[in-house]
Amino acid sequence: MNLQSDESRTNTVGLCATCTHSRKIQSDRGSIFFLCQLSENDPAFPRYPRLPVLSCPGYVPAPASPA
Ligand code: SF4
Repeated sequence: MNLQSDESRTNTVGLCATCTHSRKIQSDRGSIFFLCQLSENDPAFPRYPRLPVLSCPGYVPAPASPA
């Protein structure tokens, strides 16, 4: 079980945790990856960015999810 809070996960993952272009992938073994969807059209962006991403020209904050 993963007891990490959202805040500490954001610290570990960096910008991808809150970016509208990221897609969270969970492996069969429970590992979490963040796929950068910009990589599909722009080779400048890695498919699986090395975390934490601390600055990124493609970062767009995702809209807040409903409570
Ligand atoms: S655009 Fe940058 S911050 Fe957003 S998912 Fe891709 S690598 Fe992460």
